[in-house]
Amino acid sequence: MMNFKLVILDRDGTIGEVGADQADAEHGWQPLPGAMEAIARLNHGGWHVVIAANYGDLGRGAVEMAAINAQQGSMNKLLAAVGARVDAVFFCPHAPDEGCRCRKPQPGLFEQIRERFGIELSGTPAVGDAVEDLVAAAATGCEPHLVLTGQGAPYRGRALPSTFPAQTRVHADLAAFAEYLVERDAVPTATAN
Ligand SMILES: [Zn+2]
Repeated sequence: MMNFKLVILDRDGTIGEVGADQADAEHGWQPLPGAMEAIARLNHGGWHVVIAANYGDLGRGAVEMAAINAQQGSMNKLLAAVGARVDAVFFCPHAPDEGCRCRKPQPGLFEQIRERFGIELSGTPAVGDAVEDLVAAAATGCEPHLVLTGQGAPYRGRALPSTFPAQTRVHADLAAFAEYLVERDAVPTATAN
């Protein structure tokens, strides 16, 4: 599994509109501009992509599992249209007050990913738009990346507060992250010969 390249992405605010889990099945699911293409670029660079997301509205009973499934179906169609693929979606189905281990900033979703794929997450890039995403990522050894979309938008042009993991890298959006990662990844191969 040494060469298994995995990227972990948050959903709302990172690849899709914030509050997308409040939309009903009829409204479908709205990706952020360029996000589907960014995932395609990661895939083409040999990266497997999974999602780790809090679905708090599911836990509160504000949205039903059928709507979540419809959104994921919608997302998968949009991904397929650009030749992209998400391997799995890991989500916390609990309400914020349930005190579960999987709702970010708790590390449970990342632990589930580690178990599912049988890999150490040390150095695995994880992307989110909120401090909760990055705290959960850093707790399991992932490399935290902030995108300045969704809840990250207010940090454009500003220093991050100390609540963010110290090693957090910042990108304008998911496309900028994908470009960064694919280019960084290409460097050792280019210099190997
Ligand atoms: Zn949970």
